[in-house]
Amino acid sequence: MNIKSLYLDELINEMKLINQPAFRAKQIFEWLHVKLVSSYDDMTNLSKELRNTLKDLYPLTVLEETRRLMSKKDGTIKFLFRLNDDRVIESVLMKYHHGNSVCISSQVGCRMGCTFCASTIGGKERDLTAAEMLDQIYRIQVMTGERVSNVVVMGTGEPLDNYDNLVRFIRILSDSKGINISTRNITVSTCGIPDKMRQLADEELPVTLALSLHAPNNEIRKRLMPIAKQYELSEVMDAFRYYYEKTGRRLTVEYSLAEGINDKEEHAKELAVLLRGYNCHVNLIPINPIKERSYVKSDYHNIQKFKNILEKYRINVTIRREMGSDINAACGQLRKSYMDRRDE
Ligand code: SAH
Repeated sequence: MNIKSLYLDELINEMKLINQPAFRAKQIFEWLHVKLVSSYDDMTNLSKELRNTLKDLYPLTVLEETRRLMSKKDGTIKFLFRLNDDRVIESVLMKYHHGNSVCISSQVGCRMGCTFCASTIGGKERDLTAAEMLDQIYRIQVMTGERVSNVVVMGTGEPLDNYDNLVRFIRILSDSKGINISTRNITVSTCGIPDKMRQLADEELPVTLALSLHAPNNEIRKRLMPIAKQYELSEVMDAFRYYYEKTGRRLTVEYSLAEGINDKEEHAKELAVLLRGYNCHVNLIPINPIKERSYVKSDYHNIQKFKNILEKYRINVTIRREMGSDINAACGQLRKSYMDRRDE
């Protein structure tokens, strides 16, 4: 059990077991989730004796920064963190006018197998705990000394494939007694697992849901994303609508464009029809070619044309700025290149 993954009421119960009053649990929760300390010795309002007991009973795990790369273009910073079992994950800090946004990983590797994605090449190694997801944000906030205002679960891994830890992570992250990042400022991105999307809708945790659609129909989607063989597009779209109806949160659609595959005029029109009646915002992403695959990025004019067609159909759409393109910031590529070198 990881003490940083516990809800406050669970921590209170845990402290009861070692004859500590509830206010001790509150103090510890604050040290962990507000002051973001990395050792029990920093918890200066606890007795030395209690700190030693805690050390023995609940070893405190902290992510260790192993590498940091900063983009010269836009200040995006990519972090590689080492987990306690020596595995490595990556997180990205993006600076926008409206605040600092951190993109976190939810698993070590991924088993979804999207054909354009670097994170899935070695398969899934394991799920991340809630503590490990939180700590990506905590360490970045401590290291930069600047408040993190937005969190996107869009790094390596499929968050809805690690559902219980994800929900625990969101509840602690948005707890007013913790780091207190509002659910309005949290986005969870999924490749589209309908039953889990519905379950999330029912949690009363109104985070923004982003759906990685990438295709206007089943046929193309199956070529890009194996998950589409498991769930029909109509099932995914129904669950997507359900999410909006339950939470009232505007939906986000992610659509990465690969030349000749999903970026033609007819695809834009088909997409517009598919999204008719949805309260959504479409993010067009020029696909990031990875060396293991042969996809080619659509050129800028094509993407612009695609955007114009969607706009004609009155669909909200933006072309996502490519952040940190000079530092392998996209989608598991830094971790991949690090692991490749480590394995040599
Ligand atoms: N598993 C989740 C979140 C992680 S991926 C999901 O599928 O949404 C975050 C986003 O980056 C997804 O939309 C994913 O499809 C996209 N992506 C992955 N590799 C990419 C690449 N090489 N180029 C462009 N987008 C990519």
